[in-house]
Amino acid sequence: MQVWKFGGTSVGKPERMKSIRQLITEDGKAKIVVLSALSGSTNSLLSISESLLAGQIAEAQTKAQALRSHYDLFLTELYQTEQGLAKGKSIVDKEFAFIDGLIASSPYGTKQEKEMVALGELLSTQIFEAYLQEEGVNSLLLPALDFMVIDEDNEPILKKIEENLGAILAKEPGKQIYITQGFICRNPQGEVDNLKRGGSDYTASLIGGAISAEEVQIWTDIDGMHNNDPRIVKNTFPIRELSFAEAAELAYFGAKILHPSTITPAKLKGVPVRLKNTMEPSAYGTLISEKSTDIEIKAIAAKDNITAIYIHSTRMLNAYGFLKRVFEVFEKYKTPVDMITTSEVSVSVTIDQTTHLDSIMSELREFAELEDPDNDQVIICIVGNFWADKEGIAIKVLNAMKNIPIRMISYGASEHNISLLVDAKHKNESLNALNEGLFF
Ligand code: ADP
Ligand code: ASP
Ligand code: MG
Repeated sequence: MQVWKFGGTSVGKPERMKSIRQLITEDGKAKIVVLSALSGSTNSLLSISESLLAGQIAEAQTKAQALRSHYDLFLTELYQTEQGLAKGKSIVDKEFAFIDGLIASSPYGTKQEKEMVALGELLSTQIFEAYLQEEGVNSLLLPALDFMVIDEDNEPILKKIEENLGAILAKEPGKQIYITQGFICRNPQGEVDNLKRGGSDYTASLIGGAISAEEVQIWTDIDGMHNNDPRIVKNTFPIRELSFAEAAELAYFGAKILHPSTITPAKLKGVPVRLKNTMEPSAYGTLISEKSTDIEIKAIAAKDNITAIYIHSTRMLNAYGFLKRVFEVFEKYKTPVDMITTSEVSVSVTIDQTTHLDSIMSELREFAELEDPDNDQVIICIVGNFWADKEGIAIKVLNAMKNIPIRMISYGASEHNISLLVDAKHKNESLNALNEGLFF
């Protein structure tokens, strides 16, 4: 079976839903179809939630009414029959009654917020399933909350997902299309939770891994992974093939087309991931697989909201014990380090989760001297094939960056990644300069 995921813009309009109904059924093959919320819905739900957290009940109600009107109009344009429309209305009635319940709940906290934000995917999938029924498609809705589970560290438990989904599918064989929600899951307390923003991609690859799918296809609004961020740089172009390692670096380092963790389960189970354009289904897109091509420089991505921490040894420790102590502190606070550079007595690291920054800094101060951290930094990541015996790559990168101040450089950790740390104010300039310098 294949797993196909459609993002917000791909389901965001009634005519788009109609065209994806066509897309998923025309080859006649069975598939699991993962849907995001209609574009804008997750943001609207979060905005309602924000009002509630600020105690602005009336404001939340107004926002919920506006969202409801959006869905009402959507339904009238989607369904062709009285019964279809009635079914659609009953779904929207039920879920908006749930939203009213959340608006009335007191206290309103994180648990309620997670239930609120899940409604985007709950709505889109039920509305689409009712449309498939109206169209006579042999389909079934599989509630993600019945099989998608995460652990205490918010990590999906692939083994458990595999067992849960295997059991569900064994009970319901023979459907052509299985629909399910992206993004949402259950935590160890059994509560509704999620895989973080953009998490529907991750859902698709987790399902792909769990059922050892033939392929995972991520359908979005662009013709594959581009060589640079198309929102910032003009002359970008799609890359036809990427290895798992290259795609994982790009996703982790900010290529928004993929949730940062998407590649992990696919790579683990050797399931190819294909990126496709819903607006232009015949475009080749990008194939991500075990295979690599030997193109030297493939793509550039940027990861925002990075904090740099500068640590100097006070020589209270042996040189060989210093790094261990430093990393133990980050480990204790479950804070991943993205980039590291070292000199004889100093080490600089970057993090993107600053929840425990103060505690980390004070523990580091017990055995090291620290400079003030720099917030609002950006990691620019260049991905390609940088084999150790290849000359001239670093000079190309540095030449392109010759007019832009660089805080940190990391080269040689893998053969696929060169990372640069720059201040956020130089992000756009860096991406454009590298595009010009490396691709044209
Ligand atoms: P979806 O709603 O389908 O999940 P997203 O908005 O999350 O779609 O991701 C697609 C968007 O990612 C594109 O419209 C594009 O603007 C942005 N993007 C950022 N970097 C890249 C890149 N390197 N290649 C392609 N798209 C990218
Ligand atoms: N709807 C969720 C979001 O907007 C998940 C997704 O679209 O992938 O973040
Ligand atoms: Mg996305």
